[in-house]
Amino acid sequence: MVQTSYYDPTFSDSAFFYDRQSSSLAQRKDGRLADHFNRKVSYYHPKDVGLYHYGPLHPMKPFRLTLTNELVLGYGLHEYMDVYAPRKATAGEISQFHSEDYVDYLSRVTPASLAADIDVNRTLPADSQIHTHRIGDDDCPAFSGLFNFCQQYAGASLAAARKLNIGATDIAINWSGGLHHAKKGEASGFCYVNDIVLAILELLRLHPRVLYIDIDIHHGDGVQEAFYRSNRVLTVSFHKFGDHFFPGTGDVSETGLNEGKYFSLNVPLQDGIDDQSYVQLFKDIMGPTINTFQPSVIVLQCGADSLGLDRLGSFNLSIRAHGECVGFIKQFNLPLLVVGGGGYRQSSVSRCWTYETSVLAGVSISSTLPNTLYNGYFPGMELHPTLNNSHLIPNKNTYADLEALKRKIHEQLRVLNGAPSIQMQEIPPSITGLTEEVDDAMEEEEEDRREEERDGYLWGVHSGSRHVYKR
Ligand SMILES: [Zn+2]
Repeated sequence: MVQTSYYDPTFSDSAFFYDRQSSSLAQRKDGRLADHFNRKVSYYHPKDVGLYHYGPLHPMKPFRLTLTNELVLGYGLHEYMDVYAPRKATAGEISQFHSEDYVDYLSRVTPASLAADIDVNRTLPADSQIHTHRIGDDDCPAFSGLFNFCQQYAGASLAAARKLNIGATDIAINWSGGLHHAKKGEASGFCYVNDIVLAILELLRLHPRVLYIDIDIHHGDGVQEAFYRSNRVLTVSFHKFGDHFFPGTGDVSETGLNEGKYFSLNVPLQDGIDDQSYVQLFKDIMGPTINTFQPSVIVLQCGADSLGLDRLGSFNLSIRAHGECVGFIKQFNLPLLVVGGGGYRQSSVSRCWTYETSVLAGVSISSTLPNTLYNGYFPGMELHPTLNNSHLIPNKNTYADLEALKRKIHEQLRVLNGAPSIQMQEIPPSITGLTEEVDDAMEEEEEDRREEERDGYLWGVHSGSRHVYKR
């Protein structure tokens, strides 16, 4: 029979379905047998986390999380991961690290309450909590829904850590987390709740040693400070240092205190570092660090402001090089929690974290982006757009500087290796260890869910809002 080109049109021929073109769908890298060998990956995307807004002129745009999630779903990467829309962290859980008066203030502060705090002369009373907790300045504004936003991204990192603790996943991803600057009682650098510290505290319930790695262009000061006296958490941060660059800490001489002496590693870099130097330095430092410290779990902060052409950053990294660092850590086959962080060019951040999701899931994706509602953000639709050389920043890191830096770090690792053996310290009671408050919150949440069901709303398997359907 002669085949004709004629076929009956179907509903799925409509343009609405074009965003799932097969050419853009993810393909398993290693063939069919790979299923047995690929590690189990869990992906956390809090519902609506991308809808919050720091303010029109603020460089931090939570919307980049919506863009990332749409690309991840558009590529079909959710087929290779367990996808979760986690519950919010409770005030009690957030207080595991942050001081109670800070959490209390954070949960109450609103744009209106902040305005009322400022007197008619636009000066603050000396005892104002704005001074104490640093919420309300240009960096850390009190925007609408602020506490909910914090609860969402922190809840996702906690859920991811718990999933790793019970061995139900090998790799857990939360791109909405990674807010590494927040301090115990202070907001800092666009960060209010330090989800990384909370997640590490959770991991320490089970794991004797946690390695924290930070490839954001800013120093991971909040996490370093939280564990500066601990030998159970080794922190390593690669960042720009000098020229009054935020936050101003992260010199190579900051190595830890007391029991934690030598357990903080800092890799201070200058403007314009390129792919080759960065990736080589990263591997030359992280390989020996992992071999020396022998962590039982790794937390990787993937701030994307270290990419070339970032609005606040000044490195020249490509998405491929950033992703190569992620792939390098993955191949150590240790339980791995991956979080986001900075990143101030939304089209670059979302491409980068989508690519890194594919690296972690062990699948290859097309270099052409899938169609989404947000094609306008990606002219050319390339996953790896070429960085325009004329806009790149000259590399101020000489080969000799980087070699000298590497030698210093290796020397620190040598001393660390000779330190008294790392003792298993007291582990907090019960891995699940939920306080009464958390139990109550979970019950409340369950009740809310039942109510939503009664009202006719159900969640689909995926977390993106387009998967919410009505009965
Ligand atoms: Zn940053």
